Amino acid sequence: MIPDWVAPPHWRAIDFVSDLHLAPGLPRTAAAFGAYLAGTTADAVCLLGDVFEAWVGDDMRQQPFEQGVVAAIAAAARRISIGFMPGNRDFLVGAELCAAAGMTALADPSCLHAFGQRWLLVHGDAQCLGDAPYQAFRAQVRSPAWQRDFLARPLAERLATARAMRERSRAHQASGVETQGDLDAEACRALLLQAGAATLIHGHTHRPAAHELGDGLRRVVLSDWDLDDGARPRADVLRLSAAGLQRLTPAQATAGTGAGPAAGTGT
Ligand code: MN
Repeated sequence: MIPDWVAPPHWRAIDFVSDLHLAPGLPRTAAAFGAYLAGTTADAVCLLGDVFEAWVGDDMRQQPFEQGVVAAIAAAARRISIGFMPGNRDFLVGAELCAAAGMTALADPSCLHAFGQRWLLVHGDAQCLGDAPYQAFRAQVRSPAWQRDFLARPLAERLATARAMRERSRAHQASGVETQGDLDAEACRALLLQAGAATLIHGHTHRPAAHELGDGLRRVVLSDWDLDDGARPRADVLRLSAAGLQRLTPAQATAGTGAGPAAGTGT
């Protein structure tokens, strides 16, 4: 059973963004996200996971950097709707953070009903079936018992664990051990058929594209955001309207609102 997210009929545009991996070391990315949220001309922003580089429990929202991000989301949520689906980095986002930030929690997967069609939404990691060790890890950390045990530890210990895990993952990537996995096409097709949707929208892989899956089915992939990467700045906003899907820069998504150059692509 895939939960439904029904767009009110007055919505004219819904934005999708994912994989911002927000962290104190990426100030331009965080600033651009804040400017984008403040200025987007869409009626709703759907965050499709990995908004935060790490999230070790909702008490993390009191940390100085995270406090700023939460305030920016909460301010936007007073004006437009914000949906939040957790990714593999921020799967421990809970009801407390959603309430504090004014976000509507979305299950992975969810089925959006908008503009007379159904749109299947996932983060993307659950469909990367070629990576068996990751799927085993995912099953472990998504279990209620593991989460209860982890969240019962002091914040400093949880932050240290997350840091160690990120360093291990970076070391793996440097040694070339980690496979550059992608979503399993059959799993995507099966999920689309179950949802009665033709289009799957997801992030996670950081490989923006549109892939045909046969029989009129397709998946559309978001980019990650990194405006602190001077060589290859990137920050896709995928906008859904009655006209279909359109890939925008944050500047285009905020055009006409006077949000200014802070929302640009950071060149
Ligand atoms: Mn991810």
